[in-house]
Amino acid sequence: MIVILKPHTPTPQVDEVLREIQRLGYEPRPIFGSEQTVVAAIGDERTHLTLESLSAMPQVERVVPVQKRHKLVSRESHPANSVLDIDGVLVGGSQFCVMAGPCSVESEEQLLSTARAVKAAGATILRGGAYKPRTSPYEFQGLGQEGLALLKLARKETGLKIITEVLSERHVEQVAEAADILQIGARNAQNYQLLIECARSGKPILLKRGLSERIEEWLLAAEYILAHGNSKVLFCERGIRTFETYTRNTLDLGAAAILKNESHLPVIIDPSQGCGRADLVSALCRGAAAVGADGILVEVHPNPKKALSDGQQQLDIEGFQSLMSGLEPILKALGRSL
Ligand code: PEP
Ligand code: MN
Repeated sequence: MIVILKPHTPTPQVDEVLREIQRLGYEPRPIFGSEQTVVAAIGDERTHLTLESLSAMPQVERVVPVQKRHKLVSRESHPANSVLDIDGVLVGGSQFCVMAGPCSVESEEQLLSTARAVKAAGATILRGGAYKPRTSPYEFQGLGQEGLALLKLARKETGLKIITEVLSERHVEQVAEAADILQIGARNAQNYQLLIECARSGKPILLKRGLSERIEEWLLAAEYILAHGNSKVLFCERGIRTFETYTRNTLDLGAAAILKNESHLPVIIDPSQGCGRADLVSALCRGAAAVGADGILVEVHPNPKKALSDGQQQLDIEGFQSLMSGLEPILKALGRSL
């Protein structure tokens, strides 16, 4: 940390700050300027007591952190990309991972017909919400356990791996039994107790970005999972709240590029929640590949007009097939394969 003192702080008050820095376990190295003194506090900010409390001293102008607070997720701690093995499907390496399926699991026919079609078009992971986080309590809340049973059936029939959302600590065990990846939704992105419980399951976890979550907060949410012994985390950018109303959210592709620099963990883009409009999904998937994301999570429904949730943003089967053919040349140019 760097501690900046107010201009013309008298020596006794400077000494008081130096003593306090020492008391907190750091070695103070003052730099005396003609007007202002700046103190570098040497020590590991991640393991020592925080120096932020120094800002409460009247002679301190500002305390500036130097080290990053996310340790295990940072690229410094693991320079190579982490390649996660999702029961045989590799994510984070040269392959581009396509996860696709309905927003909600609605019926056997709906799920299985979608699963077969997305698999034929090149997807390797099937998405589908059994427990749905709906904004209104009067909207379809998902089939719950029955939905999980249908996901297991789809896995057995098609061999696709399964990703589905966990809404509550109470459901972690049953969801982990049906899923190959646990999805933490935007509304639970900083529900630390849920993150810890999911970490303990040992399953890979796709961590969505919260509706108004800063990148640093997102990195630290992932740090919770790694700090609890589970390093199988995938980040998922799904759009954030901004002033813009043309789209449901603003898909922050820049954040994906930043995360690829900051962290060794795979980054997935969800353009469906990201824009909330089926007509933009394909273009955003091409953008996702171009910024270096490791995969996409796309909503596909055999009949979006009849969908019980998010009908406006789900692609039909034909739309998904054309998304996949549009993606192919871009992946090829980038040296990535499906
Ligand atoms: C979803 O994937 O259907 C979903 C609810 O996602 P999010 O948590 O990003 O809103
Ligand atoms: Mn949805």
